[in-house]
Amino acid sequence: MNPTPPATLEIDLTAITTNWRALAARHSGQTAAVVKADAYGLGAARIAPALAKAGCTQFFTAHLSEALALRPLLPRAAIMVLHGVLPGEAVMFTENNIIPVISSLPELALWSAEAQYRSRKLPAFLQFDTGMSRLGLSPEEFTILRENPGLLTGVNVTHVMTHLVNAELPNDPMNERQYERIRTIKQYFPGAKISLANSSGMFLPAKFCADLARPGAAMYGLNPTPAQPNPMLNAVRLSGRILAIREIETGTKVGYNGIWTAPRRSTIATVAVGYADGYFRRLGNKAAGYYTHGFDVYTAPLVGRVSMDLTTFDITGIAEVKIGDSLELIGKNTPPDDLALAATSNGYEILTSLGKRFQRQYLGAF
Ligand SMILES: *Cc1c(COP(=O)(O)O)cnc(C)c1O
Repeated sequence: MNPTPPATLEIDLTAITTNWRALAARHSGQTAAVVKADAYGLGAARIAPALAKAGCTQFFTAHLSEALALRPLLPRAAIMVLHGVLPGEAVMFTENNIIPVISSLPELALWSAEAQYRSRKLPAFLQFDTGMSRLGLSPEEFTILRENPGLLTGVNVTHVMTHLVNAELPNDPMNERQYERIRTIKQYFPGAKISLANSSGMFLPAKFCADLARPGAAMYGLNPTPAQPNPMLNAVRLSGRILAIREIETGTKVGYNGIWTAPRRSTIATVAVGYADGYFRRLGNKAAGYYTHGFDVYTAPLVGRVSMDLTTFDITGIAEVKIGDSLELIGKNTPPDDLALAATSNGYEILTSLGKRFQRQYLGAF
């Protein structure tokens, strides 16, 4: 018999692929999947092949190393690297059939040189800065490119791309401005498609989905429309086992620095999850665990500080709880977005911070 592990992270592949299908169904263009940062911490090696089975043919990673790791698992898919190509890397892109998202003229020069060296056209996404000031050709670089079309020698610009600054704010005028800018840029690349929308961008007016959408967060169950109920299915569940249960008297303090004092006689459960697992220390006194017994779900407030490997919850009055039971710390009752609010973070950071020592269980037949 295997011992039950102290903490379990369940990742619902069916929810993730269902979410991807729902996103893809929002428009008539194509929908890629963003699987950077190990699929937002959830495991690209399991998630990307499941998405491929669900019909996804285009994937974005951030790093070349992430793309190289996925290549054998996705033999036929298009894989794009958001960080683009650095000096010395072009050969690894071409030999593994990986496409760079090119964001500067020096990078374009690298890719053009590689194409000329190989005497063949090489595909590329060309990213433009329309407001993010992060990656992408600047307006000045775009002017230089227009005046020197030879800079594109050997490069087949399949897509012009940009990234929205405020996609989750539907009324922000920046969205429309960025849309207009990429439309204008596209006129200089008649054969290219437009890629613009991340998850939230797909919930703006339909035109924002353009030819190729690039959702990440919403596939993993984060809410792309923060002002409204979450239209996506939750895809993660973190549960921690109760290692100890103790009764404490009124006035007793709990945990490091005693930041919580029992207002009454209380029952405290100590759970085997802490900040080393990505359950943020900032959550001290601010979150809750959930205990399910049959059809009943009980809320157990987090009391005291979160320690490295342990967190304490107030289970006063929940009669059924016993040592070895689990509390849900992230899941249907505490979605990552809610936990993020309590931790003054966002759902993305919650997911990508999830620790590596949980037992990971993938649900769904893939
Ligand atoms: C991360 C990323 C995405 C996906 O964004 P989500 O908000 O997770 O959908 C899309 N495009 C670029 C350029 C990104 O960096």
